[in-house]
Amino acid sequence: MNNTNEFNQFENIDAWVKCFEENDKLPKNKILCSKCKTTAVSMLRSSNLKNTLPRYNNDIRRLLTEFQCRDCRNVNKVVKTKVGGKATEDNTTSDNKPKKVSAHVVETPEEKEARAEEIRKNTPKVDLTGPKMSYDLNNKDHVKILTTNNCWKPNVYLDNGKWCDTCPLFDNCNSTLKRRKK
Ligand SMILES: [Zn+2]
Repeated sequence: MNNTNEFNQFENIDAWVKCFEENDKLPKNKILCSKCKTTAVSMLRSSNLKNTLPRYNNDIRRLLTEFQCRDCRNVNKVVKTKVGGKATEDNTTSDNKPKKVSAHVVETPEEKEARAEEIRKNTPKVDLTGPKMSYDLNNKDHVKILTTNNCWKPNVYLDNGKWCDTCPLFDNCNSTLKRRKK
């Protein structure tokens, strides 16, 4: 039998409560932390028990089932502080652990995708290899994007002695090379 089991009031809460009610003391001199269930805390001295009990409304059953060791209570405190948004007290780390990022800058996958989509939408992509293009040459806005600082039909331009007379994109072309003989 190890120490943990020796002080495990959770195995028989009723017996522990009964023992306390009848003898004004617990059957063992320590009780297990209700959270980690690994740390046994001394309740041997009657003063310790008597001082602790009022925090549980003088309910011995609550004390036995809700009592937490110091470590677990400290963990709870830290969590509460962070949830409350007061995570600014620790801007430096004494060790090399990566700093935790505050909750408000964390993006959900959906938000991240929406932001990426927004960037994609606002970034004209000029793919000079052609076949993968999703631009519609019948859409004048698309043609404008494709032809800004760029002749989209250099073969037409060059075949016609650097004139655009026969170019089908002429009306919406935004290239600085754009010109017609007539
Ligand atoms: Zn604990």
